[in-house]
Amino acid sequence: QEALDKGLEKTKEGFFTKITKAVVGKSTVDEEVLDNLEEILVTSDVGVTTTLKIIERIEDRVAKDKYVNTSELNGILREEIQALLAENNSDDFETFEYGNHKPYVIMVVGVNGVGKTTTIGKLAHKLKEAGNKVVLGAADTFRAAAVEQIKLWGERVGVRVVAQSMGSDPASVAFDTVQSAVANQEDVAIIDTAGRLHNKLALMNELTKIKNVMKKVVPGAPHEILLVLDASTGQNAIEQCKQFTQATDVNALALTKLDGTAKGGVVIGISDQFKIPVKYIGVGESINDLQLFNKKEFVNSLFK
Ligand code: GDP
Repeated sequence: QEALDKGLEKTKEGFFTKITKAVVGKSTVDEEVLDNLEEILVTSDVGVTTTLKIIERIEDRVAKDKYVNTSELNGILREEIQALLAENNSDDFETFEYGNHKPYVIMVVGVNGVGKTTTIGKLAHKLKEAGNKVVLGAADTFRAAAVEQIKLWGERVGVRVVAQSMGSDPASVAFDTVQSAVANQEDVAIIDTAGRLHNKLALMNELTKIKNVMKKVVPGAPHEILLVLDASTGQNAIEQCKQFTQATDVNALALTKLDGTAKGGVVIGISDQFKIPVKYIGVGESINDLQLFNKKEFVNSLFK
């Protein structure tokens, strides 16, 4: 919770401090307070659709109760935001949900620069610390730097990395990774993929090919298709989410760089709009700065 509080500091300042100001001198939640609140939510990257939904729910409660004290507004807002966020099944990495899959295969997708490699490294570290055998697959064979970076993370964390030469077939790397994970009885295989988005059809084809090849080795794999998004890009992250969910069956999200941004509200908008659980959040650059998302803690941090 402490690391999370610190990570969300900027969002809190930019968002919830404003809310406190919006009700100064007001005793009840009236039209003007709601207008101010709407503006604050929109400018904090919650997104227009989700903001209107929240405002509408508060309006309903105000209408029902006739009189809502402004001091109650935080509590109401907190409840409504929490209701919009999808719950995560695991509380910590020790109780991480594998659904009895071994290896549990995570395919990681996302645009370059969002923090994909860092997230893979941090995740490998957390899962290893929790007692799992982890292997990484460097299937972003398009950039030499990507393969090198994954290898560096592998050394740093102390986990095996499967890589081929640059330009080789990403599906072949994915196949090798999953197959050797089975042979080595590893618990989790995390596969990096290329983050080019210039052509949706090409992206879709490549991801489908990687998926299909893994399925041949482990039925049901990949169990997790994790889309990494940079929270500090606000509405861009929402756009990327749209693109990737159209290209492949994303079923988990990682939101990075929450520490450096006031745009943490994007977590709420994305969760509501796409109905895909935010599973991990990045709250700093160091190896330990990855957390399993917990909506209660997240909301607690925002309203502290
Ligand atoms: P990739 O191109 O998507 O693989 O991106 P990288 O993993 O190389 O990350 C790009 C930059 O973002 C690096 O400088 C990382 O240290 C930084 N980064 C990644 N995650 C976080 C985070 O949660 N917080 C902060 N502050 N920086 C991060």
